[in-house]
Amino acid sequence: MSLPAASGRISELRLEGVSRSYGARRALDGLDMTIKGGEFVALLGPSGCGKSTALNCVAGLLPLTEGRILLDGTRIDTLPPEKRGFGMVFQNYALFPHMSVRANVAFGLRMRRTPAAERRERVAEALRLVQLGEYADRLPGRLSGGQQQRVAIARAIVLEPPLVLMDEPLSNLDAALRLEMRTEIRRIHQTLGLTTIYVTHDQEEALSLADRLVVLRDGVLQQAGTPEEVYTEPANRFVAAFMGYRNAFELPVVGGDSRTVRLAADGLALTGVRRGELPGTAVACVRPEDLTVTETVTETVTETVAGTGTVAGTVAGAGGGVAGANTLSGTVEVVEYHGRESAAQVRTDGGHPLSVKTPARLAPGERVTLSVPPERVLVFAP
Ligand code: ADP
Ligand code: MG
Repeated sequence: MSLPAASGRISELRLEGVSRSYGARRALDGLDMTIKGGEFVALLGPSGCGKSTALNCVAGLLPLTEGRILLDGTRIDTLPPEKRGFGMVFQNYALFPHMSVRANVAFGLRMRRTPAAERRERVAEALRLVQLGEYADRLPGRLSGGQQQRVAIARAIVLEPPLVLMDEPLSNLDAALRLEMRTEIRRIHQTLGLTTIYVTHDQEEALSLADRLVVLRDGVLQQAGTPEEVYTEPANRFVAAFMGYRNAFELPVVGGDSRTVRLAADGLALTGVRRGELPGTAVACVRPEDLTVTETVTETVTETVAGTGTVAGTVAGAGGGVAGANTLSGTVEVVEYHGRESAAQVRTDGGHPLSVKTPARLAPGERVTLSVPPERVLVFAP
């Protein structure tokens, strides 16, 4: 049996109800997803949510417990990995230590008996693309981690595989290199347009790299969508928390309409956007950067913080009606300096911990008033 796209372009890869159990534990539970040719899809979720399991099922390194995988309509989940011919990049590089960079990259072409002249040309081209042309004769052990990962990427793309699979390829690199390599991977995808599934637990990495995100939790799909969709309209509380809605207030529902909902208890009231059906108690989620410091009080002196009055007419707002902003007050406990902004932990008067990111200069012990417009508050079922 030969694949419709043993090399080169595919139209789509389809996963249908793909499950994988380890004993009684379901690591991946009925995953449905379709990847279009040329797309860069990020599989995103916290450690242990089943990302590697899903990727290894696609690669053929792990048999499915249930479901099917189809490449351009042909079933591939019964094929061994070498018949699928996908390019793989792992966290630990997995290079042949005794082979030069060039030989590592040429290995797959050699196995396919690609003629020597073509092989040389394609290897040189792949090494140029990952900016390692100068290092072709080195052994992997004499390269930095970032360079080794570039070799692994060159080795995966040189075959122009129907699918490139990457499992946390940047997580062994230091922060600066990670950013640099992220741009590299994006650039290579823009140049070659290879269909790619990229596994990461880093939401920023996923948002910046992918055309589409697939978010998993405990082996179950939570949301699939463009980075913007997932970032601005998380499907549930879990995705919201993962996308930076770090503050969550579980409160009784006291009012609202079809679009908004109002929650209140113990001197804390919040109006937000209704996300789905809500029972009598719901959870309001707020990003630290969406909280604006409208007022700080050090002992008896009151000052209005300059440049933060972006929400008109809200400083004196009495708890945030549907039209106005929500107001919260509390005491600053911890401040971390992050350059242009600071991250502060505030304890609300009702005793809730609150994360705030603000350009305002705060100090521990200060009393602050914070505001957040209702459209920046998402309310989910608990
Ligand atoms: P991720 O890549 O998202 O961190 P994995 O796919 O590696 O998650 O793992 C998903 C779940 O399956 C985890 O709970 C993990 O402990 C479990 N698991 C993974 N591999 C095995 C294995 N070989 N045997 C038993 N359990 C496993
Ligand atoms: Mg993993």
